[in-house]
Amino acid sequence: MTDDRTPGMSTRAVHLPPANVPDQQPLGLPTYRTAAYRFESAEEFADLLAGRRAGYSYSRIDNPTVEAFASGVAHLEGAAAGQAFASGMAAISTTFLTFLNAGDHVVAQSALYGGSYSVLAHVLPRFGIETTFVEGSDLDAVAAAFRPTTKLLYGETLANPSMAVADLPGLAEVAHAHDALLAVDSTFASPAVCRPVQWGADLVLHSATKYIGGHSDVTGGVVVGAAELMAQIRALRIDLGGSLAPDEAFLLHRGLTTLPLRVARHCASALALAEAVVAHPAVESVDYPGLADHPQHSLAGKLFDSSDGRTQYGGCVTIAPRGGREAGLAFCNALRLAENASSLGGTHTVVSHVASSTHRQLDDAALLACGIAPSAVRISVGLEDVADVIADVVQALDGV
Ligand SMILES: *Cc1c(COP(=O)(O)O)cnc(C)c1O
Repeated sequence: MTDDRTPGMSTRAVHLPPANVPDQQPLGLPTYRTAAYRFESAEEFADLLAGRRAGYSYSRIDNPTVEAFASGVAHLEGAAAGQAFASGMAAISTTFLTFLNAGDHVVAQSALYGGSYSVLAHVLPRFGIETTFVEGSDLDAVAAAFRPTTKLLYGETLANPSMAVADLPGLAEVAHAHDALLAVDSTFASPAVCRPVQWGADLVLHSATKYIGGHSDVTGGVVVGAAELMAQIRALRIDLGGSLAPDEAFLLHRGLTTLPLRVARHCASALALAEAVVAHPAVESVDYPGLADHPQHSLAGKLFDSSDGRTQYGGCVTIAPRGGREAGLAFCNALRLAENASSLGGTHTVVSHVASSTHRQLDDAALLACGIAPSAVRISVGLEDVADVIADVVQALDGV
C-alpha cells in the first residue's frame, strides 16, 4: 500500500480512531469488552508473553474488568488475592484440579452442593483422586478420615438445605495439623455474613451467581486466598479456560457495591420469616441458624457478622411442612408471591422442593439419612416487603 492511497471504506471502518484512555480514574468500572490487546511492536508482544513486561494480551488470560471484580471479592473477604471464573463450578473444579494430583485424597463434608459432590464423587476418581465424605460437624470424624495422602479438606460455611454452620476454626485446625488446605464454599453466607479467611480457611469459593451478583441475571464464580495459591489457580484457569467474561465481571462488581445492604435485608427478612412460621401447626421443622434450637446457633453467633447490632444468619430458610413429599410440593404450588425457581440470593423470593430439585438423586431413605425431610422446601428470601413474604408463606401453609 503506497502512502498516497486513501484506504477504502471497510478499512476505515475497521480502523476507527482509538478511544481516549484517560489518566483519571472513572467512578464507574470500565468494561474492557475485548478479547485481545495490541502492541506497539512485535518485540513488545514477545516480551509480554515471555513475562518480561506486565500487561494484557488476551482476555482468557487476564482482563482488567475481571481482575477488578476478583480483587474486590478478595478485599471484602480479607484475602490477599482472587481469581474469577465463568461459574461457581468452574471456580470449584479448577481449584480441585490445581491442588490435587493422582493418588491424592480429599476429606469433604457430606452435605455439599450437588455439583461439588458430583465432581468429588464421580469426576475426580477418574483421575485417581479419592474423597471421603464425613459429617462436617463431627470434628473427630473429620480428623479420623484423614490419610497421609490427604491434601484438601472441603466444606461449606452454610450447608444446603440444613443450614448447618461449619466450625471453621475447628476445621482449619484439623486441616493444618495434617498439612492440608482448608477450602470453603461460602456462597450461602457471602462476605457480608462471614469471612472464612479470618477463621483459618486457606481458600474461599463462591458461586457469584447467588448473593454477589444478587439479581439472578449473571453467572460467575470466584476463589480468594493467599497470593501464591492464587497464582497456581490462575495458571490452571488459563489452561482449562473457565475464565469470566468482562460484561459479567462488570455486573458482579456492581453487585459487590450493594452486597452488604442487600444481604442485611435478606438476613433480617429470613429471620422474621423463620420466627413467624416455626410454630405454625402445618410445620414439622424449620432449619435456620437464627433460631435458638438450631444446633449451631451459638457457633453462628460467633462466626457471623452483625448488622445494626443483630447477628446475620443468612438469607435462606428451610421449611418442612407436615405430610411428606406431597405436602412439600403442595406448599410450593400454593405460594403466590414466591416463585418456584432455581438459584438463590436474588431480589425475588424463590423456593425449591429439596427432594425434587437439588437433592433429586436421593430417595426418601437416603434423604432421611442426611437429615433432610422429604417435604423440605428451601426458601431464598428476597428483597420484597417482609410482611408480604410472611403472609404468602403463611397462606400457603394454611392450605397444606
Ligand atoms: C450454585 C452453587 C454452586 C455452583 O455455582 P454455579 O455458579 O451455578 O456454577 C456452588 N456452590 C453452592 C453452594 C451453590 O449454591
